[in-house]
Amino acid sequence: MIELYRGLDRKDECILNAIFDNMWDFEYVPVHAIARECGISEEKIELALKKLGGMRITENKYTEYLGASFTFKGLSVFSLKRLVNKNAVSMLGNIMGEGKESVVYNAMSERYGEVVVKFHRVGYPSFKKVKEKRDYGSLHYTVLTVRSAKREYNALKKLYGYASVPQPVAWEGNAVVTRLIDAKELFRVKISNPGDVLDMILEEIKKMYARGIIHGDLSQFNILVNSDGVWIIDFPQSVDTKDPMAQEYLERDVKNVLDYFERTYRLKKDLKEVMKYIKDE
Ligand code: ATP
Ligand code: MN
Ligand code: MN
Ligand code: MN
Repeated sequence: MIELYRGLDRKDECILNAIFDNMWDFEYVPVHAIARECGISEEKIELALKKLGGMRITENKYTEYLGASFTFKGLSVFSLKRLVNKNAVSMLGNIMGEGKESVVYNAMSERYGEVVVKFHRVGYPSFKKVKEKRDYGSLHYTVLTVRSAKREYNALKKLYGYASVPQPVAWEGNAVVTRLIDAKELFRVKISNPGDVLDMILEEIKKMYARGIIHGDLSQFNILVNSDGVWIIDFPQSVDTKDPMAQEYLERDVKNVLDYFERTYRLKKDLKEVMKYIKDE
């Protein structure tokens, strides 16, 4: 990642900006559009794209014309560059985790100290599915990763200060930066006061609901705990409480949590009662 980042000159940066600006209109952004935006000849853009393609930063495609889109790695490097430019991140650290839908890094921020950078890759064709035809209309799948990052950032902005979630620091492209929480995922720890912890989690779900947000993927994997409390993370699939699917998602979230505590700690709570508590009925 860092090597790729350092290998980019001003022209490359302009090209990547042009691809980013135009990827909502073109699955593969045509060379002439990039040339126009950068004020550089099409020949020079083609040469630069060959280099970027070789670095696996862009995916180039010939139809009637040459066009380019980002790879996951390319969009991530681009987003990182923007985060550094606006001083949200000063140094990228190690990979903390690599999930299906994201790659998460430790990083440093001058203003916020230790932070986490999550590069979204939802919709990215997996190795197994790479031959499968996926239809996103005329949109490139990298657009979906940007939408997913934006949705997560917006949810965190709305919730921070009202519910226990990581502090949102910045959003650029497919990257969301949050402040690091020194805690472990619920499924990794054996807690000594499960009744209290379960109550704290349900209280957070209630606070999020009051703020108009349903998590949508809540489970022991997206709850962090330490001796100070609990935090809810991972919001790209969150929905508004006015969404037609809201009640279904809320019930599934609550059920996931109750099932986990019943299975792991033999703690039983009535789903209907808990739903009433959360919705303040
Ligand atoms: P997964 O494939 O595990 O579901 P994901 O793509 O859903 O990953 P997240 O759950 O948001 O992404 O983040 C992945 C992991 O990174 C979390 O399980 C957690 O361990 C860690 N993490 C994310 N954000 C933070 C944070 N602000 N503080 C501490 N750890 C974090
Ligand atoms: Mn996941
Ligand atoms: Mn997760
Ligand atoms: Mn997730």
